[in-house]
Amino acid sequence: MPHVAFVPLTGLRVREAELLDLGMSLPGLARRANALAELPALGLLTLAGMTPATWSCSYHDTATADEQLVERVLGESPDLVAISALTASVTEAYSLSDKLRARGISVVLGGLHATCEPDEAGLHCDSVVVGDGEPVWQQILDDATSGSVRPTYRAASVYDLADSPVPRFELLGERSRPRFTLQTERGCPLACDFCGASRLLGSFREKPVANIRDELAAINQIDPSPWLELADDNTFAGGRDTELLLSTIESANARFFTEADWRIGERPELLKQLAASGCVQVLLGIESLVFRYPGMGPKQSEFQRIMTAVDAIQDAGIVANGCFIVGADGETDESLDRLIKFILNSRLGEVQITLQTPFPGTALRRKLSIDGRLLADRDWSHYTLFDVTYRPDQISVKQLERGFRRVIRAVFDSAANKKRGELRKSIWRKNPRFRT
Ligand code: SF4
Repeated sequence: MPHVAFVPLTGLRVREAELLDLGMSLPGLARRANALAELPALGLLTLAGMTPATWSCSYHDTATADEQLVERVLGESPDLVAISALTASVTEAYSLSDKLRARGISVVLGGLHATCEPDEAGLHCDSVVVGDGEPVWQQILDDATSGSVRPTYRAASVYDLADSPVPRFELLGERSRPRFTLQTERGCPLACDFCGASRLLGSFREKPVANIRDELAAINQIDPSPWLELADDNTFAGGRDTELLLSTIESANARFFTEADWRIGERPELLKQLAASGCVQVLLGIESLVFRYPGMGPKQSEFQRIMTAVDAIQDAGIVANGCFIVGADGETDESLDRLIKFILNSRLGEVQITLQTPFPGTALRRKLSIDGRLLADRDWSHYTLFDVTYRPDQISVKQLERGFRRVIRAVFDSAANKKRGELRKSIWRKNPRFRT
């Protein structure tokens, strides 16, 4: 029987040494990093779900592509290895692929980065998947069986999520605190110009509830009351029946995190259902206090209106995790002080702060590239969201690095962290689902 090994490179990465130390010592940051590191890579589990029973499969999620991993994969004598990586981990993915190919193993590489940089990825693997993997997966397997994989696979049309198979969650094996990922849509109808997720894999699509129900049933077989992270970019921005979606999730007896935009705070019925369905926390892109990114569409608004929406979300018993981007045009030492003050005085139950990062395929990257502002000495391994990769317009690279650390230190210090922890508890006490 032919064998395919799936190898997603997962986990957060940070290059800058001082920030790395800081991240390890700040509880709020470490907690979120660990939670993200536990999340299964849904893309490859989904491909495993559509792999015919005539193939055997294995799954090796890893934060480091070391020699042990190489030997473990080689030990399975796979006919094909499928690797997925984000920009920050793609250099490790290339190195892993080079080592496997040197030992005669055929490697296919996919994901957002490979989709945007297929020529570069093609230097390190036998085949690059550009765009959605599902429509071309059977062809790749057929070609691997006959030893004739092609350099590039690209779907002829946008993949219909109604055809989605149930991901093979059982490949994850025993884990101490299992968390599951569930995708209810792909992409986003908005187009913020820094966003590397909204449209790179094709137009915005929503998964039919029947498929979601099947996936939840598979998860419930492993865990009757699971922790879920919806692998969506903006869960309620489309036009579907949210009541049906949320009642389906509610019946899975799950607790979950998702990403949306602040406008859900102006939909009281939705908030009520969201709380009842087990939503613990919703990530909301508040973005920059100094720059209005093009493409934000209706997400663009006055901060007063956004924070009123945050209050409504939290009054419903769901923690709002405000996400801020540091380093946009106009950022200065003074604006970073204002950001610290804004966050510390806000009623946000959780906060996420990252550096502006010009990912491949984004309008932001094209602009910074045309302006000659991308830093040539920062390779892809710096595209972590925590390392500076371009020249800011008002301050130096060093100032931005120092300023970012200052913001992180102030926002995640133990007093601020404790205050948000108490706030979160008081928010969840308002949620009828969590009171019982
Ligand atoms: S709303 Fe979020 S997911 Fe949608 S384009 Fe903007 S940043 Fe991307």
